[in-house]
Amino acid sequence: MALALRPNCEYCDTDLPPADERARICSYECTFCADCVGRHLRNVCPNCGGGFTPRPIRPRTEWRPGLSVAKRPPSDKRVHLSDSLQDIQAHSERIAAIAPEQR
Ligand SMILES: [Zn+2]
Ligand SMILES: [Zn+2]
Repeated sequence: MALALRPNCEYCDTDLPPADERARICSYECTFCADCVGRHLRNVCPNCGGGFTPRPIRPRTEWRPGLSVAKRPPSDKRVHLSDSLQDIQAHSERIAAIAPEQR
């Protein structure tokens, strides 16, 4: 239901805590840092082929009952790439030229 707020970039494994503005997600919530999305992925998710958007920041303050990063804590399950870097590069090259809404 809520975003899992995954703890790391799948590509470089850098930590992406819930308030980190570098976090990018695809529609399936595959999570990467902005640096890898720009430098290595060409804004193509290596898992699903979709585009990325900045991950929203879950509020620290419980403005409404039960809704805060403390009440809905982030995932601690680190996720790693499931394809080789070579495969990902080819995948990104193949798909990057197609606008996300046309993929
Ligand atoms: Zn990264
Ligand atoms: Zn994806």
